[in-house]
Amino acid sequence: MSSDLVIVYHRQPYEEVEVDGKIELKENSSPNGIVPTLKSFFGRVEKGSWVAWKYADDPSNPDFERVVEIDDSYGKYSVSRLPLTEEQVQSFYHVSSKEAFWPILHGFKERYNYDPVDWPTFRQVNWAFAEAAAAEVSDDGVVWIHDYNLWLVPGYLRQLKPSVKIAFFHHTPFPNPDIFNVLPWREEIVKSLLQADAVGFHIPRYSNNFKAVARSITSARSTDETPTPEAMSPRGMALSERHTVRAMRHHDHDILIDTSPVGVDTDYIASVVADPEVQAKVADIRSEIGEDMQLIVSVARTDYTKGNVEQLEAYERLLVSRPDLIGKVRLMHVSVGANRNMTAYEEVQQRIEELSGRINGTFGSFEWQPVSLISTAIPFRDLIAYYRAADVAWITPLADGLNLVANEFCMARDDLGGALVLSEFAGTAVLLKGAIPVNPFSFASMDRGIQQALDMDDEEKRSRMKGLRESVQKFDINAWVTSQTELFDRLRKLPSKEA
Ligand code: UDP
Repeated sequence: MSSDLVIVYHRQPYEEVEVDGKIELKENSSPNGIVPTLKSFFGRVEKGSWVAWKYADDPSNPDFERVVEIDDSYGKYSVSRLPLTEEQVQSFYHVSSKEAFWPILHGFKERYNYDPVDWPTFRQVNWAFAEAAAAEVSDDGVVWIHDYNLWLVPGYLRQLKPSVKIAFFHHTPFPNPDIFNVLPWREEIVKSLLQADAVGFHIPRYSNNFKAVARSITSARSTDETPTPEAMSPRGMALSERHTVRAMRHHDHDILIDTSPVGVDTDYIASVVADPEVQAKVADIRSEIGEDMQLIVSVARTDYTKGNVEQLEAYERLLVSRPDLIGKVRLMHVSVGANRNMTAYEEVQQRIEELSGRINGTFGSFEWQPVSLISTAIPFRDLIAYYRAADVAWITPLADGLNLVANEFCMARDDLGGALVLSEFAGTAVLLKGAIPVNPFSFASMDRGIQQALDMDDEEKRSRMKGLRESVQKFDINAWVTSQTELFDRLRKLPSKEA
């Protein structure tokens, strides 16, 4: 039986665990994160499938299990696994996606590395994803493709199976034409995306940038109003609507431009916060920190986009300019290295280690360590305990598609305590108006922001946190799921394209 909904996402929707020398497929331990959210859509259709890649030494090996049937708490669904060699993954994922697309998407033209990109391999891998999706989907089913490493899939899929409904969602920022058009493959990428029926983004600025890019290199035209200048400013266009759908036309094809931020699971976080074990951990953290010490928590992947280095530099300046804070403040800097074997990330990690060492060496004493650098992932429940125990969350990306950490911090604060310092270049800044906004490219702004948070009284924290929590709740994961479900209903009603 073919599927009504095929999700195309590079990661497999389970964890592979080795038990007695055999690989077992285990449901992800936490309901937190995008994979469980996407799987929840399978509960809404008769048959669902997932397409992902899996390492294979020899892709032609007949023993490679290409399709596995899963029956977990999200129901029954099948997973098509594309066998990719290490070289293919290196080329398609690490080089094309992370060295060329990632810096451009985040506005870092100077980090963009064009020469090593092997475009034929990128095309080949995207074609394989499109073929696998075409094989699974019913004639009028929906194929839902995720993220920039699969940019060419919509175009290929339209060739392979014209009648299907195609939706594409970006989990990253999307830059303006001056930046995006640096990519030599810009036209091929954009023309592929314009073959989709819907292209989705977290916030209005990214949607508007995509429309501007499409207009700049194709004959595509907006079929509704153009963005106002406010919508393009960093924190502009407060998200009052949870879901916005605009439209474009390319030749005779209409494309919905969908804007809806992927929120957090507020009920799950509330249940974690209420758990007595987590509350005991909060009490332990607080008693370890002490009455007159402020705890600042910072959580991010190690990535030049996340502003880890800029933050540590600001912390060093803070300790110089505010001697009254010596011995009175502690920064827990969680910087988790997800891409360890890549030079750009290793450099950032090295800078983080150097700076933390220098700060501790310069200002620390036997009794007081100003920075605790944590480089391994903290389990989600423990992270929630740290958010709940902190005085300040300090989140300073230079560019970030959304930033879930900021939303999670607010939901952990059912006591209405804690101040949030948030970069205006985190996508979620458009909805978290109660945060202290900072521009991580400006020393003055960074310095002012952290001091304002550390000096803030409880009353102001409470009133800001109340507003922040209302926004996070309004734009929670259910709001996103509803928006995407409505979108698919709309797509299913469209007339199918002829072969
Ligand atoms: N996270 C975690 N443990 C860590 C660091 C991060 O569980 O030690 C989680 C965090 O709670 C959040 C996610 O990883 O849900 C990071 O998402 P975000 O949108 O902030 O950043 P991304 O890494 O996706 O760019």
